[in-house]
Amino acid sequence: KYMSGNELREKFLQYFAQRGHLRLPSFSLIPENDPSLLMIGAGMAPFKPFFTGKMKPPHTRITTSQRCVRTGDIENVGRTARHQTYFEMLGNFSFGDYFKKEVIPWAWEFLTKELELPADKLWVSIYPKDEEAYKIWTEKTSVNPDHIVRMEDNFWEIGTGPCGPDSEIYIDLGEERGCGKPDCAPGCDCDRYLEIWNLVFTQYDRTESGEYRPLVKKNIDTGAGLERLASVIQEKPTNFETDLLYPIIEYASRISGVEYNKDKKTDISLKVIADHARSIAVMVMDGILPSNEGRGYVLRRILRRAVRHGRMLGIEKAFLADAVDVVAEIYRGVYDGLTERKDYIKKVINIEEERFHQTLTQGMSLLDEEIQQLSAAGKTVLDGEIGFKLYDTYGFPYELTDEILHENDFSLDKDGFDKAMEAQRERARQARQENKRVDIPDLRELDVEKLSCDCAAKSAKIVCIWKN
Ligand code: ATP
Ligand code: MG
Ligand code: MG
Ligand code: MG
Repeated sequence: KYMSGNELREKFLQYFAQRGHLRLPSFSLIPENDPSLLMIGAGMAPFKPFFTGKMKPPHTRITTSQRCVRTGDIENVGRTARHQTYFEMLGNFSFGDYFKKEVIPWAWEFLTKELELPADKLWVSIYPKDEEAYKIWTEKTSVNPDHIVRMEDNFWEIGTGPCGPDSEIYIDLGEERGCGKPDCAPGCDCDRYLEIWNLVFTQYDRTESGEYRPLVKKNIDTGAGLERLASVIQEKPTNFETDLLYPIIEYASRISGVEYNKDKKTDISLKVIADHARSIAVMVMDGILPSNEGRGYVLRRILRRAVRHGRMLGIEKAFLADAVDVVAEIYRGVYDGLTERKDYIKKVINIEEERFHQTLTQGMSLLDEEIQQLSAAGKTVLDGEIGFKLYDTYGFPYELTDEILHENDFSLDKDGFDKAMEAQRERARQARQENKRVDIPDLRELDVEKLSCDCAAKSAKIVCIWKN
């Protein structure tokens, strides 16, 4: 039965609220008190102190739909059906409360009864030694035992601390979506078996010496991709055709005059724009501002990548600020901040985009020239200094130059780039010591006083300028 993305989110949260979970709103993308993390990339991330026992949770059962950014997936966007840089992770968490025998049947019931997914299309992966999970899957659910696969990497851990085996749920989307290789199975990188949900059973505490001590209070941490579930429920070929993303594709298609579903390459660009537009809108909503370091740099990099894909579709003018209207509409009644702070968000994005458009043209022609020269000289690696000049003068993030070079079968000398970058930092340090005024690139024209709102982003911006 068709369900909108927003209905699906609601259904999930209600299902777990009915099972004793405290329902909390999504946390900001900016982690609180966690310098180890650039941005929230999983539903469990804001709960780390509860898992480690550092802090007491407000309730032993919690459910959320968490905004997530994973830049590690950036190259996959538009190339796989299932990856975005920005997505929502639906999750239910147990802090020393319920464990495997509750969570497995719940997940199964939610998928097969609430969402009415066909049980015979579902597959499950478990950690090879996790007989307890195997027993519960076979005895407490109707999963086909032949659809349970054992995978060595189904173990979740980061350094020391709470860790444990996990169990993933996949849906078989049919042979025609697969890679056709004889060993194609859940876990294969192709689009046939779609991973929709990961159930993590944190039952050990890994000590400094590498020992796995069973935890007295075992935890549950699960994560299901909202867009992936929506693609299944809405019977769409990829996440990008769901109502959570498609309006932005339509927008980009309208602005560029490029039709969707006509050509593989332009489809990738339309998908990249749809994903990146959502990412940047939500990042700015959460108080992130473009800068040359940290999360500000992630934002800048994603925005510039979107602009470049816009150019590939022939869009020559700034278009990302207006995409915020479309994004805000998608999340109406869900992320009020997008609507309430829309003018501010659009302004931040517009300033950054306009500036980038100006330098992009110049930078591209410089890079084109360099590529010609490399080609003529029979070389394949671009000098790091030139890469740095593109970064410093023309605002090309390292990854952008590298990506353009790769598209032309060239590469960038990373060491040379890093050296030039370090030299620049040293000059800046010197200048600071000599008490010279260091110019703040890219943000100088953003007039704080003229911003017509009093949101968190405004104060974050001051921090941001200060840091620069
Ligand atoms: P995949 O193997 O497909 O990259 P994953 O194993 O990295 O996914 P998890 O870290 O287990 O994903 O995250 C839990 C869930 O979040 C996944 O099962 C999936 O539904 C969703 N998810 C993860 N990464 C993305 C992404 N980049 N875009 C959309 N949804 C995602
Ligand atoms: Mg992944
Ligand atoms: Mg996976
Ligand atoms: Mg996983």
